[in-house]
Amino acid sequence: MRLILLGPPGAGKGTQAQRLVARHGIVQLSTGDMLRAAVAAGTPVGLKAKDIMASGGLVPDEVVIGIIADRIELPDAAKGFILDGFPRTVPQAEALDALLKSKGLKLDAVVELRVNESALLQRVEARVAEMTGRGETVRIDDTPEVLSKRLAAYRSQTEPLVHYYSERRNLLTVDGMMPIQEVTDDIERVLSAIVSSEKKTAKAKASAKKSASKTSAAKPAANRRTPAKKTVKAPTKATKTAAKTAAKASSKSKPAAKAAKKTIKTSKAPAKSAKKAGKK
Ligand code: AMP
Repeated sequence: MRLILLGPPGAGKGTQAQRLVARHGIVQLSTGDMLRAAVAAGTPVGLKAKDIMASGGLVPDEVVIGIIADRIELPDAAKGFILDGFPRTVPQAEALDALLKSKGLKLDAVVELRVNESALLQRVEARVAEMTGRGETVRIDDTPEVLSKRLAAYRSQTEPLVHYYSERRNLLTVDGMMPIQEVTDDIERVLSAIVSSEKKTAKAKASAKKSASKTSAAKPAANRRTPAKKTVKAPTKATKTAAKTAAKASSKSKPAAKAAKKTIKTSKAPAKSAKKAGKK
């Protein structure tokens, strides 16, 4: 499974990515983590990125595209991955498309965590206060001032990706303001809808193939009214459309939203979970 987690800083992408990693056995590819490691190691990439990151800006596209292109090549990414914090601009998304295409890979879903910006600032302030209280080191770009800049960068450069992916693929929007477990449940719900519609498509393809081969075996070519090729193509197309519709419908599924709301009411520790959601 290959996924993108889209959402502003502090939306809980890192937390949700870790849960998906544990559940699906795929790797989390966080460009933020990779860049922080490069800064700490003092590599040429790190030296380039250090000041930009500290000020809340975006590292140049070619730098992060290069990092991801190399990372995807590693064997642990073969089973699938979750991109957390990448792509962040339209050129990065286009480069990712080209990269995946060149490898014959496809994205299964883009999950957008939608959150309320003023609540994000409050989350960060609370987290910084907690960490400082515990004597822990606070991330240099996790101050309210830098976060405002990171949010501005998200709005102007990353948010256009919502439109980019809604036009091209399965964009699934999840309410990121819910407690952590409910966000996870919603993500899992939409992912399982995708997986089952993909299974259905594969099954339909297989049975169409089987019936096509039966038809061609039963009738001599001269007696066939419809070419065998058509028998294969028609159900495949129809199934694809049905699968797309199913995935779309499931992403907007009211019962899912209702169920999620219901869970919020019954959740025992929403405040604790909401605080945790801000953590990376
Ligand atoms: P994150 O941990 O994802 O919030 O990223 C921390 C910082 O790393 C960002 O504020 C950017 O400066 C930089 N960064 C991470 N990912 C990207 C990316 N895909 N494109 C540009 N800059 C990035």
